[in-house]
Amino acid sequence: MNTAVGIVGAGPSGLLLANLLQQAGIPCVVLERGTREYIETRPRAGVLEHRSVEALKRHGLADRLLAEADRHGSCEFRVNGRPFQVDYADLYEGRTHYIYPQQEVVKDLLGAFLAGGGDVRFEVPDAELHDLTSERPSITWTSPDGTAESLTCDFVAGCDGFHGVSRRSVPEGAVSNVVLHHGIGWLSILAEAPPSTRSVIYALHERGFAGHMLRSATVSRYYLQVPVDESPDDWSDERVWSELNTRMALAEGNWRLTEGKIVEKRVLDMRSHVVEPMNHGRLFLLGDAAHIITPVGGKGMNLALHDASVLGDAFALHYGSGDESLLKSYSDVCLRRVWRAQEFSHWMAGMIHTSAEPFHARLAQSRLEHLLESKAYRSTFAQNYVGV
Ligand SMILES: Cc1cc2nc3c(=O)[nH]c(=O)nc-3n(C[C@H](O)[C@H](O)[C@H](O)COP(=O)(O)OP(=O)(O)OC[C@H]3O[C@@H](n4cnc5c(N)ncnc54)[C@H](O)[C@@H]3O)c2cc1C
Repeated sequence: MNTAVGIVGAGPSGLLLANLLQQAGIPCVVLERGTREYIETRPRAGVLEHRSVEALKRHGLADRLLAEADRHGSCEFRVNGRPFQVDYADLYEGRTHYIYPQQEVVKDLLGAFLAGGGDVRFEVPDAELHDLTSERPSITWTSPDGTAESLTCDFVAGCDGFHGVSRRSVPEGAVSNVVLHHGIGWLSILAEAPPSTRSVIYALHERGFAGHMLRSATVSRYYLQVPVDESPDDWSDERVWSELNTRMALAEGNWRLTEGKIVEKRVLDMRSHVVEPMNHGRLFLLGDAAHIITPVGGKGMNLALHDASVLGDAFALHYGSGDESLLKSYSDVCLRRVWRAQEFSHWMAGMIHTSAEPFHARLAQSRLEHLLESKAYRSTFAQNYVGV
């Protein structure tokens, strides 16, 4: 088999890129480790920035999202039970977040690509990349019926997340890995419970951070700051709800979370990782394959979509006129935005978490006080939060 671009991974980055190539008349094949059902039901992120939605809109990929997503322009910091609302849409050109679960983004992008005749191979767990620095790299794999397959292409787009084959296929020393371990864990909880709030809550409490994120009318996500080596098995459902209620309690009144069935419980290790540059030979890395960011600030899926949008434009120019300039600047353009997001996420992480380290604890306190007191500081927060 031959194609122009072989795409490994059918997450938000791979599927947006596939749609952009299809719309530009550039052939591509998508290889995905999981089944269609797996990718269409895998709950992860749920917050789209204004500019991500604008990019999807430009390509006619946002119809259901615009009809169904809730829009949020405000979030709450709850500091030892005292609520403080930041109306970030008012502070930054009326821009809002769109609350739309990641699996719905995937469903829409996959549906559009397949409706246009797109080629997606599911259940490909053993893809291998070859000759990435040659003119014609290739991908080999075994199809579900046991047939050995091979795809030769002009370029490979590695969209298969942090643990995928693409990042691993770059030889040692060919790129730099810039890494930070924050030493913080989040117990991430997904529950079949309607939201108990109209906007995201970041609760800062002496026992540690707690977060309430919105996903849909019937499902909510919550986070609890825990030690990195914590086991989710130590957290019974009763303990989760009790701790969330303690850390999020209001100083006045008897506000409580609406509880529901917990359907996912896992511990996330807060870490940041950036691969520089985001390409090697004819392999381009996108999304989590190129960069991991902490969930603080909700940037991961948005960065993945941005990478796809930049690379889609670069391929359109290359195949349209032979101009390689956008392919050459792909990594620099994406990394600028990646580092802006990393800085913001790091700044915010330093403000919302409880630290046993007195210096960090005082910095967090000062940062928070400044946010509550200074409109200029809040405006900068708003710009970065909803997308510069
Ligand atoms: C609990 C949680 C909450 C989050 N919350 C937010 C949030 O609120 N906002 C936000 O913006 N981001 C958030 N993120 C981050 C966001 O989910 C990721 O940044 C995003 O999924 C990255 O998209 P991607 O396309 O790069 O990769 P992925 O979504 O990881 O997709 C990669 C795809 O590649 C496939 N694959 C993997 N290996 C192979 C292989 N070897 N061969 C073929 N296919 C392969 C996988 O099955 C998957 O379908 C969150 C993440 C988690 C875990």
